[in-house]
Amino acid sequence: MAGGADLHLHTTASDGTLSPAEMVALSREQGLVAIAITDHDTAGGLREAVAAGERLGIQVIPGVELSCPVGDGRTEVHLLGYLCRFDDGPLAELLARLRRGRFERAAAIVERLRARGYAIDLDRVLALGGESVGRAHIAQALVEAGYAQTVKEAFDRFLVPGRPGYVPRPRLTLSEAIQAVREAGGVPVLAHPGLIRDDHWVAAAIAAGVMGLEAYHTDHSAAQAEKYARWAEARGLLVTGGSDSHGPRGSRPVLPGHVRVGLEVVERLLAAAGRAG
Ligand SMILES: [Zn+2]
Ligand SMILES: [Zn+2]
Repeated sequence: MAGGADLHLHTTASDGTLSPAEMVALSREQGLVAIAITDHDTAGGLREAVAAGERLGIQVIPGVELSCPVGDGRTEVHLLGYLCRFDDGPLAELLARLRRGRFERAAAIVERLRARGYAIDLDRVLALGGESVGRAHIAQALVEAGYAQTVKEAFDRFLVPGRPGYVPRPRLTLSEAIQAVREAGGVPVLAHPGLIRDDHWVAAAIAAGVMGLEAYHTDHSAAQAEKYARWAEARGLLVTGGSDSHGPRGSRPVLPGHVRVGLEVVERLLAAAGRAG
């Protein structure tokens, strides 16, 4: 299928495997007319992506994906924020705070592991992770240093709750995230509601002010897509969709355009951004 829009893509600005410009080029090759770049907790890839979109003739919608632990903290709700003002204001401050939090958490984990004799190097971890450093990069450093065979083993042995290198991440609440997106003039959309596995949190997100549900997603069944599309429509919310591609070799190894929505969804997003705040 050619044409359409994919409103959920990751790049090397967070945990994707393609640079922003490469992701835009591949999306163009897949026949997409519009895409949104939605890296985790950072707007760092947007400038490059928008410039590549202008060069290649594909519409690039600036976005971000924020992770909000809920309940006992084992469940994470992901919030997509589209068309926000990213350069300054409340969302920029929030992203800066998350970036500092990521750095401080990585440093704390490395220190804990070193104290137990696992001599990995914080500089190496930061070189692997850049702006968006996280546990995956520490896992990679543990593998490089020979303390684990695979990234998965490194997670299981060192980096999950109850293991020696586990440090909980600072919490961003769902309502805080939704509010920051709205204050930045953007459109908050609940990402992949089916992956939360508890519709209580979907209802909570709607009550807290999300303006849309990502009904169409690579990991949703047809039945889930239909259910959340109906749910959104009944409440006057946007119905969006995206592949969540992290690049063809990434952690969700699908091509951009694996999930597509019609361009009328882009029109509705743009109209909603005018009303947000
Ligand atoms: Zn997500
Ligand atoms: Zn995602």
